[in-house]
Amino acid sequence: MENLYYEVALPLPLRNSFTYSSNIKISNGSRVQVPFRNREIVGYVLKKQSSPNVKSIKPITKVLDRNSLIDKPSYDLIHWIANYYKAPIGEIFKSYFPPFLRKGKKIKDSIEVYAITNLGKLASKESFGRAKKQFEALEVFQHKLELSRPGLKANKISKAILDALISKGYLEKKSRNRNELKTNKELNSEAFFELNDEQNKIYKSIKNSSANLTHLIFGVTGSGKTEIYFHLIRDFIEKGKQVLILVPEIGLTPNLKAEIERRFGEDNVALLHSEMSEKDRAHAWNDINKGFKSILIGTRSAIFTPFKDLGLIVVDEEHDSSYKQIDGFRYSARDVAVYRANLEKISVIMCSATPSLESLKNCQDEKYCLHKLTRRVKDARQPNFEISDLRSSELKSGLTEYSLNEISKELSKGNQVLVFLNKKGYAPMVFCNKCGWTPECSNCDVSMVYHINPKRLVCHHCGTKHPMPVACLNCNEESLEFFHTGTEKLEEFLNEYFKNTSVIRVDREALGKEQLRSNSVLPDSKEPLILVGTQILAKGHHMPNLTLVVVVDADSGLFSVDHKASERLAQLLIQVSGRAGREDKEGRVILQSFVPEHPFLEKISSFDYGRIANEILKERQTSKLPPFVYQINIHAESLKRPLPEKVLMEISHSLNLNDDEFIGPKPELIEKRKNYFRWVLTLKSENRKKIHALANQVIKMIDQGDYSKNVRVGIDVDPLN
Ligand SMILES: [Zn+2]
Ligand SMILES: [Zn+2]
Repeated sequence: MENLYYEVALPLPLRNSFTYSSNIKISNGSRVQVPFRNREIVGYVLKKQSSPNVKSIKPITKVLDRNSLIDKPSYDLIHWIANYYKAPIGEIFKSYFPPFLRKGKKIKDSIEVYAITNLGKLASKESFGRAKKQFEALEVFQHKLELSRPGLKANKISKAILDALISKGYLEKKSRNRNELKTNKELNSEAFFELNDEQNKIYKSIKNSSANLTHLIFGVTGSGKTEIYFHLIRDFIEKGKQVLILVPEIGLTPNLKAEIERRFGEDNVALLHSEMSEKDRAHAWNDINKGFKSILIGTRSAIFTPFKDLGLIVVDEEHDSSYKQIDGFRYSARDVAVYRANLEKISVIMCSATPSLESLKNCQDEKYCLHKLTRRVKDARQPNFEISDLRSSELKSGLTEYSLNEISKELSKGNQVLVFLNKKGYAPMVFCNKCGWTPECSNCDVSMVYHINPKRLVCHHCGTKHPMPVACLNCNEESLEFFHTGTEKLEEFLNEYFKNTSVIRVDREALGKEQLRSNSVLPDSKEPLILVGTQILAKGHHMPNLTLVVVVDADSGLFSVDHKASERLAQLLIQVSGRAGREDKEGRVILQSFVPEHPFLEKISSFDYGRIANEILKERQTSKLPPFVYQINIHAESLKRPLPEKVLMEISHSLNLNDDEFIGPKPELIEKRKNYFRWVLTLKSENRKKIHALANQVIKMIDQGDYSKNVRVGIDVDPLN
């Protein structure tokens, strides 16, 4: 048979592809195993080549898929991403497959289940005697008939109990196709809430609009945005379509998964995020790819899942910065979602109480359709704001006298309080009062933060940990003092101050991975309590008894050089404040500030994000900042201090830029991180074509330059800052 030639993308940070041969006909996007530099790796077929102009072409070792697992729109999307985000195409292909498939393995459609036998169906409690746990497990089977591995885990049925029930002949092991599982995929109409007039108007307007639009539902916290998209999802599921729901972080949207499962059947919903095991990810991917399940809830990279028949994409909390990947190949899952929907001729629904300025501008430009929800459901009122002057009283662990009194009052009324502080650890700063020494990370240009439990110094940027020294490492005096308050210290203080109230700290340190993975981030308790936490508390938790939010440091970010800081601070403060008061309880927010007269705090107090966003947009327009201009960052990093600046200078000179077309090169906010010295050159232009042409020139220089050994150059299109 004649030899065919294929252009193959390899999962490496390389922008070029490679030619291999085979006598088998292979479709575009298929996985192949090929030899590369003395090893075998899995690559992806880009296309057939007619007459290759390279010599000594190696043959493909093994064809893993004759028919590609990804469809034409996905294949096209990969090319668009490579072109738009200037990313190595092999790495994008890699993102499209779960780790299992990247290694060249196959996912089985069959699954092992444990099923109840006729004998088991008839077994009664008496026959178990004292083996109570065995009977309880059997009761689960009598109800569900069969369970697979995740089901066993969810019902806490151990291997020992399982074996005992099998040996008694009550259960048997079976192999089933995942599509034939006896599962709950029924739509439960009763689980849907009836929409109020305002919600219903939006629902109908989206339902009746054309099939290929981007919608933004902008509604205050508690206004019932999710219920609108639940209703829209139902329409797609009833038509046999699949739906993708992107969320910022699974563990932080605890109710969402349960609410979706309640409405659409627990076995119709797949989950995809990086905390899952490789096996579970592979099955979730396969269930969606083959159409075994209808709904996928996933974080950022779930946007790269090939669906059997995708009908709708939902991007929840669209403003959240976790949609942007800032390591490896940099992309925005939100923006990729819009482009993907375009290719597949379907719609996107974005939701937020604090939409990003980019999306709001797209609404102004009539690229997206804006739908505003102005009322909170059940007529809950918006929270009342007060500003507490940090200069007015002696502070106790960062809290004013006034705040402490108000916390007391709310607790005595049986309510719950949230104290918000975006600083982890015990003391953000350690300082020698004799010589002024302060412990710094040896890998990064930052101070180490003091943590208790265990007592040590931690770098929040690279994770380096050191035992806390007893004496100053510079002058040897025992004169180290702690400055500023972190969540650990605040927790300790509040525990001491409110002795009879439970204080719960919620930050990434306090929550184990397990908790973030499962959905048990917050207590269900309705008892009076104090939550102390960082911005992960800002996300959509529903706590009906929470009536007071205290923002310990509302000023952080007010005086930042980053042009995105004001937008982010507004989003954060509005989101956190939205936790206060729902349904029948009125909410209050205390903003503690050293500059209580600052106009920004007054704006926040209006709780009118739309107005704040419009004002920031006007400022951005005047100062020619995104989203009114396009930006592309060229990042350079090296272990050798002078190199990043030198390389970026070379690049900027050879681009021949006008003065208003670039900023820098300048060191990053933290120049040295994880031992790398980092600089950035920002390109900007009002003309998208032009700025992309410039970036393409940069890529050529990177690929041809001889400095690549010592300097890593990365490109960030539409950077976050
Ligand atoms: Zn000292
Ligand atoms: Zn460090």
